[in-house]
Amino acid sequence: MSDIALLPSVQRFIDSQPGSFVEGQAISEAGAERFDVFNPSTGEVLTQVAQASPALVEHAVQAAHGAFVNSWGSTTPYLRGVALNRLADLIEANGEELAQLESLSSGKSIHLTRHLEVPQSVVFLRYFAGWATKIHGQTMTPSLPSMQGEQYAAFTRREAVGVVAGITPWNFSLMIGIWKIASALTCGCTIVLKPSEFTPLSLLRVAQLALEAGVPPGALNIVNGSGRIGQQLIGHPGVAKVSFTGSVPTGVAVGKAALSANLTRVTLELGGKNPAAFLADVDVDQAVEGILQTAYVHQGQVCAAPERLYIHSSKVDAICAELAQRLGAMKVGGALDESAQFGPLANKAHHDKIVGFFAQANARGQVLCGGKPLPGPGYFVEPTLLRATDAQDPFLHEETFGPIVTVLPFDDEDDLVRMMNDSPFGLGASVWTNDLAKAMRLIPRIEAGTVWVNMHTFLDPSVPFGGVKGSGIGREFGSAFIDDYTELKSVMMRF
Ligand code: NAP
Repeated sequence: MSDIALLPSVQRFIDSQPGSFVEGQAISEAGAERFDVFNPSTGEVLTQVAQASPALVEHAVQAAHGAFVNSWGSTTPYLRGVALNRLADLIEANGEELAQLESLSSGKSIHLTRHLEVPQSVVFLRYFAGWATKIHGQTMTPSLPSMQGEQYAAFTRREAVGVVAGITPWNFSLMIGIWKIASALTCGCTIVLKPSEFTPLSLLRVAQLALEAGVPPGALNIVNGSGRIGQQLIGHPGVAKVSFTGSVPTGVAVGKAALSANLTRVTLELGGKNPAAFLADVDVDQAVEGILQTAYVHQGQVCAAPERLYIHSSKVDAICAELAQRLGAMKVGGALDESAQFGPLANKAHHDKIVGFFAQANARGQVLCGGKPLPGPGYFVEPTLLRATDAQDPFLHEETFGPIVTVLPFDDEDDLVRMMNDSPFGLGASVWTNDLAKAMRLIPRIEAGTVWVNMHTFLDPSVPFGGVKGSGIGREFGSAFIDDYTELKSVMMRF
């Protein structure tokens, strides 16, 4: 089947010499260095985007500070919620355009952008908008001694921290960007966001829609370009908080830079090597369906996706055989091909890294299925299943962030827990069983920010999300995000 036709508005946007969006204006600086944005489905250059100069980044921070002091920071909570709900409506109304922009530059299937990323961005935005009117402090009664009848009262206020620097990766650039924009704006903060240079387009369109929705100029700014821009934002004295999502090595550098800049508060949503445990009672068909739905979505380029499977030895052969058969039958195609079940990797560097992993796995004779690059154009590889040599196999320890899933059988549940926790990461984990008592006993023993039972990777705005150990600091969603985007001020009064 051929690709869907691009909307004329998408083509116009791509042809528009995009750059950044600062203080309510699309800005493509004259003479700016331009970087190529590739279409991973074809390997061709989709467009060139103007890299924000240091002066433009400075302008963005100043604009965000101005909006914090003069407009958005003093907008009532109710009106903040109204504007964010309007933005959600506009994203919904322009959903196909955003889905196409996101699929074109990320290689993500148009099914996923249409039916998951865009609608979930709307769901999250509306959830956050509801919080705007529910952010509050507490009252306390101090126990200070009263000598002459004086009394005391105390209360806390939750105050927006100010300008937030958001830095986001390429895998779900629209949705992760919306999480950061919504968290900041809901709390009354303003934001300067730097998307990954692989996927700079969809958030530029969101910034235009935000202006239309009533978010004032300067409250939301997008600055495009390389990691250098992230560094400038992190070191800027006008930035009160850094919210970073990306890889562990970059996250560690970001965390250190933020703390040494101005003790700038920082939240880090980083990578993982997420285990999924299939206990002896699992149904083979359901297990295979669950693995296909979660481990290979967006070619495995999902931070919380399961990359290591511990399967009870009584089921391992049956599950692997059926999984290999299903993976081998998947139809591979470009992001805009509605009939494709498996698409390209997001960029050439990542493709080359995954092909390097294939070489190692083939050399060690570990491949149960897949394990080869596919002919281009485009960055295609086979969905891959490996068998681990033992619990120390590097494929059970290093994040591939691709369609490479590694299986190890287990017999004993204490061994299972030890192996699941034997990782520097702790983002997500899952347990698959019909024995809920067993699952309930395992949950507290598993070192992860989220434990799913009979599911994996699914996120909901009401459920906090984040990592333990090397997978990060802080939590998004629920009410947990409020702590990160507000400062707690205590007030004590004598009367
Ligand atoms: P990355 O290489 O760490 O980049 C993330 C962002 O940081 C990009 O915008 C990047 O810009 C920027 N950056 C690079 N160097 C920087 C520096 N020195 N200072 C400030 N910013 C800098 O990650 P990625 O390859 O885009 O994304 C994949 C990783 O993200 C995986 O490890 C995945 O597990 C993780 N991830 C985690 C979550 C979560 O919620 N926990 C969600 C999604 C992805 P450029 O791209 O322009 O270089």
